[in-house]
Amino acid sequence: MASALLQVAPQAHVEVNAELCKGCDLCVVVCPQQNLRLSDRFNRMGYHPVEFDVHGRKGDCTACGLCYWACPDFAIVSVERRRQ
Ligand code: SF4
Ligand code: SF4
Repeated sequence: MASALLQVAPQAHVEVNAELCKGCDLCVVVCPQQNLRLSDRFNRMGYHPVEFDVHGRKGDCTACGLCYWACPDFAIVSVERRRQ
């Protein structure tokens, strides 16, 4: 019960269209919090698409939008700030 009370709801969400992603790594490199990584699976084009994790290596996603503007293929569909 105590651990449930300590859990904090995610504040941000990044929607990725995996079928549009060509795994170029631009969004991965640009993310200051390291919330994006290339997945092990393949999409229909044969690329490893990006996956989003709200908890990055350097902290939680801040919904800064850098990944959205960095993607040349519009595979980052949306960046959303959510209320807790
Ligand atoms: S919105 Fe900002 S912090 Fe969140 S995944 Fe994109 S670049 Fe990283
Ligand atoms: S910048 Fe776009 S195409 Fe490149 S890895 Fe990120 S989501 Fe995929």
